[in-house]
Amino acid sequence: MSATQAPERLEFKTELKQLLDLIIHSLYTKKEIFLRELISNAADAIDKVRFESLTNQDVLEGNGDWKIKLIPDETAGTLTIRDNGIGMSREQIVENLGTIAKSGTKAFMESLKAANAKDKPELIGQFGVGFYASFMVADRVTVVTRTAGKAEEGVKWESEGQGDYTIEQADKPTRGTDVILHLREDAKEFLGVWRLKEIVKKYSDFIDHPIVIDIEKKKEDVKSIEEEVINSRQAIWLRSKNEIKPEEYSAFYKQIARDFDEPLKTVHYEAQGMQEFRALMFIPSHRPMDWMMGPEKPSGLDLYVRRVLIQHECEELSPLWMRFVRGVVDSADLPLNVSRETLQHNPMLAKIQSNLVNRVLKTLEEMKTSENETYLKFHKEFGGLLKEGIGSDHGNRERLADLLLFESTKTKPGEYTTLAKYVESMPTDQKEIFFLIGDEREQIENSPYLESFKAKGQEVLLLTETIDEYLASLLRDYKGKQLKAVDKGEMEKDPSAEEKLKEAGERLKGALELLKKKLETDVKDVRLSSRLKESAAILVADDWGMTAHMERLMERMGRGAEMPDSKRVLELNPDHPVVAAIQKMAEKDVLDPRIESYGRLLLDQATIAEGSKIKDPAGFAKRVNALIENTNA
Ligand code: ADP
Repeated sequence: MSATQAPERLEFKTELKQLLDLIIHSLYTKKEIFLRELISNAADAIDKVRFESLTNQDVLEGNGDWKIKLIPDETAGTLTIRDNGIGMSREQIVENLGTIAKSGTKAFMESLKAANAKDKPELIGQFGVGFYASFMVADRVTVVTRTAGKAEEGVKWESEGQGDYTIEQADKPTRGTDVILHLREDAKEFLGVWRLKEIVKKYSDFIDHPIVIDIEKKKEDVKSIEEEVINSRQAIWLRSKNEIKPEEYSAFYKQIARDFDEPLKTVHYEAQGMQEFRALMFIPSHRPMDWMMGPEKPSGLDLYVRRVLIQHECEELSPLWMRFVRGVVDSADLPLNVSRETLQHNPMLAKIQSNLVNRVLKTLEEMKTSENETYLKFHKEFGGLLKEGIGSDHGNRERLADLLLFESTKTKPGEYTTLAKYVESMPTDQKEIFFLIGDEREQIENSPYLESFKAKGQEVLLLTETIDEYLASLLRDYKGKQLKAVDKGEMEKDPSAEEKLKEAGERLKGALELLKKKLETDVKDVRLSSRLKESAAILVADDWGMTAHMERLMERMGRGAEMPDSKRVLELNPDHPVVAAIQKMAEKDVLDPRIESYGRLLLDQATIAEGSKIKDPAGFAKRVNALIENTNA
């Protein structure tokens, strides 16, 4: 053992001075992360000595009761973070706390510079800044440490973070490190036990060594101090799958998702090879409550690096459509102080993400084939997000499309078909996948739009979700078959129908021309079509026009004013007696006022059939009344 020496004063290396300056003077919000950094250092130090003790029991010094202790001292104004880890020798402390540590601090600096951190103080929360984060809350930091081995001497390191530090021999009877923070005036909040508990819960709950704090207890007027463990220590994702009980998964899920219900599905796996990471993901059984209250979170996955939380709700782990998945991903390969900036462009994370997406898709595919009930439940809650994914995740478009369920004219209410099944049972002469969008099944399943399809035995998908209009514009085709809205554009004509229409056009020319003129302000055109079997009239949109459903959606969103004026086409059924009756009137007297009146009645009928409101209900009533009076006369 060397003789006691006077404190030695040493200079920080230049880059370190810059870093300290940055941390103290510009990166000031989220100061609380200093604790995450110090706890994570303490946990690492314990891991190291624990590992060493496997081959050398001596390092234990009979003290293998691993623990990280937080000691707030109101009187002294200090907060101590104590560990019984590996400790540091004099050389190590100079190397570790006096220079830029090899492990990432430099990269951190560089990314800070690149991100122009002075303008973005909020970035600090995303960074791992290590030991130097202490200076955000302390104007003086003392480190008292001793390495394993009773013969070793203790070392005291101290600095005000101003460019130099002192180092001297110190009394340290036990192995490990005390980091003593002399808290700044504006950081006294970190003396509060509740505040400390809160920070530990937030950032370090899953550290698997106990983090303890002394709590004063009062029993029958007798005060006593008890050490309380304040982290749950459940790094459950690191444990082996077959050792974990279902109720443990469930408790963990409930904690992270703040949900009272069981998850619908748990996906827990370890990826090896190119990327080593563990993922514990949950598919909730219902949409999260907080989605109803505020903007939906872009991701439900937290990124950990070796048990240390790096990024809560990490967008880089989850494509937007997968935001319903909750859970934790713990990488063994990423550096601990990976920054927000580097997260964004990190190829490792991109690979992890695609691996996670693949797993989630696979889980859903399996659920769809073998757990029908569960899948139905999932689809009801989150099917809309899969539809959204079709627009944004091009690589997985087909897999997502295959996961969708649809009601159709051939399924009973509450039963579903898929695109694959639809295509499989398509008659050979059918080239397109037909669909009709509306608000509810009951409203559209008897729609006149479906008459000719029903007559031909062709299936039509019935879409009733708000997002379906969007889906229809994204999913233009499936396995080479175009998707076609039955209330849009012209019908696919077969030659015999064409012939019949031409003949009817001649026969009904008078009525058509008159109606076109009379209804000019309301519809784009009046034409005959083979679309109808029973009804007399129907309104259809152009291929590029807006359907009635879309118009109603826009109006509901308060965007009615933005809508282009999209008049629809009134199609008439050439075989309907009403159309023949109008033609007769036209042949007798083109000035007969009933022609316009009946034309308007047909338009009103068609408007009601498409689910819209008629423009002039009073006029409609008048016209109907006149009709009744006439019949009675
Ligand atoms: P990082 O943790 O990213 O390496 P830090 O600045 O936090 O960077 O710490 C630098 C080094 O100091 C650590 O790598 C470690 O070797 C040492 N160190 C820090 N805290 C402790 C501790 N409580 N016990 C032992 N060694 C520590």
